[in-house]
Amino acid sequence: MSVISNINEIRRIIPPEVTIVAVSKTRTVDEIMEAYQAGIRNFGENRVQELMTKKPMLPEDIRWHFIGHLQRNKARMVVPAATLIHSLDSAGLLNEIQTVAEKSNKAIDCLLQFHIATEETKFGMTEQEAYSLAEIWINSRYGHVNLTGVMGMASFTDDHALIEREFRLLKGYFDKLRTDFFMNCERFSTISMGMTGDYLLAIREGSNMVRIGTGIFGH
Ligand SMILES: *Cc1c(COP(=O)(O)O)cnc(C)c1O
Repeated sequence: MSVISNINEIRRIIPPEVTIVAVSKTRTVDEIMEAYQAGIRNFGENRVQELMTKKPMLPEDIRWHFIGHLQRNKARMVVPAATLIHSLDSAGLLNEIQTVAEKSNKAIDCLLQFHIATEETKFGMTEQEAYSLAEIWINSRYGHVNLTGVMGMASFTDDHALIEREFRLLKGYFDKLRTDFFMNCERFSTISMGMTGDYLLAIREGSNMVRIGTGIFGH
């Protein structure tokens, strides 16, 4: 299957309001251009250096999503380069993003990353941690950081019932945050969940942004 037919197939089976982020980590500029030519404008990278290397070689209207764990000292590179950071997971990082965004004269959108999987190795916050982060954000009036939703990765497993529970959990966190903090904020609207193996399940559970790598570019 080619990149273009993979994309067309995904488009055929998902609702049009769901944003497709093509995860282009480890992919070449040529591969990315194939997806671009098929109309994809949202691309996801998880390594800072790779993003900084590829971005200048590709069209300027690409919206770059930073989907990997972000170290504080790398925020100064990612903030000017990215449209959306999916991996906000600490007050320290929030502070740093705010500082850098202010200097870059930019407001950057960020998602609160939750730990929903059973594996210890996956990054993200607990419900309490995310709540205190949202509180810090509200109280400190971070004018250069927009909190626009949530992100999470389900367990890597064939157990569909487990994945479904994890996605439902994340959707629940989103709904609760919306009610408690973002009632009059249209911006808080993104639920980034679902990858190649589980995006249909994720959409069924309320996702409106899927991050697809191998399903688009192959193995
Ligand atoms: C690599 C990656 C993806 C895409 O994974 P695929 O299974 O190839 O679709 C999605 N989200 C994150 C955070 C990733 O690191």
